[in-house]
Amino acid sequence: MAGCEIVRVAVPNRESGEAIDEIRRKISIPLVVDIHFNWRLALIALEKGADKIRINPGTIGSKEAVREIVKVAKDRGVPIRIGVNAGSLPKDILKKYKGSISEAMVASAIREVEILEEEGFQDIVVSLKAFDIPTTVSAYEKFSQLRDYPLHIGITEAGPMPEGAVRSAVGLGILLSKGLGDTIRVSLTADGVKEVEVAWEILSSLNLRKRGYIIVSCPMCARCSVPLIEIAERVREELKELPPRPLKVAVMGCEVNGPGEAKDADIGLAFGKKGAVLFVKGNPVRTVPFQKAIEELFQEIEKLK
Ligand code: SF4
Repeated sequence: MAGCEIVRVAVPNRESGEAIDEIRRKISIPLVVDIHFNWRLALIALEKGADKIRINPGTIGSKEAVREIVKVAKDRGVPIRIGVNAGSLPKDILKKYKGSISEAMVASAIREVEILEEEGFQDIVVSLKAFDIPTTVSAYEKFSQLRDYPLHIGITEAGPMPEGAVRSAVGLGILLSKGLGDTIRVSLTADGVKEVEVAWEILSSLNLRKRGYIIVSCPMCARCSVPLIEIAERVREELKELPPRPLKVAVMGCEVNGPGEAKDADIGLAFGKKGAVLFVKGNPVRTVPFQKAIEELFQEIEKLK
């Protein structure tokens, strides 16, 4: 289980809209439905049990179309996310703010927010995503000075791994550090599970949320005499097989500095020429033979329950 807490699906046609209730029955997390162009699909999704509707101001069409969605969402108590994307801004706004994409993004969001507010609807979430990090950060900062709605944050089309993970971490890291962001999405050209794993790494790096194991390992230097890359990778893969818990596990390349450098870790191995020192909170517990080091590490992890 990767730990996804909200899932979003696109509904590009009637058939996908009709499938919402079946999807809803099979999952236990909120289902957000993404609507472009055809507002009637939002009505189908709402009727079929969508937990949130995402509309893109650049593609959803007229004010009247948005009002139709709002009416039904209001009746059903379903929130609406105004999902602004730098790549699909309304033409008139782009023309007006051509000097600043972030301002155009904010203007697009505000115009849509006002339509919802005119209908007495305030169950609103806003996202302002771009590929460019300074543009994204600036858009969220500007919007948050104008309205106090929850923000869904993300760096859109961030790319494949590892570039996309780095770009997402930098962008989301800046926003979260500024206190901006209520839900996050990591957008990668990769398996969705990777997106969730990267999202958890970002949250855990900032001590905002903790879930599974955190692995601490050193960059190796001349003191390292073992194939640490392979060892760390094996520990990482085996940790993924265990039920998640917030435990910091270290894999260090030498016993001289390893336990000290990783004293924050709950448990770890520091390798020497003849074996590895097994340590807990920086304190050596015993020395174990190289061949049995990983096995003994996992036995100790079990005992830490
Ligand atoms: Fe070098 Fe040891 Fe530090 Fe790893 S733990 S970087 S091998 S000194």
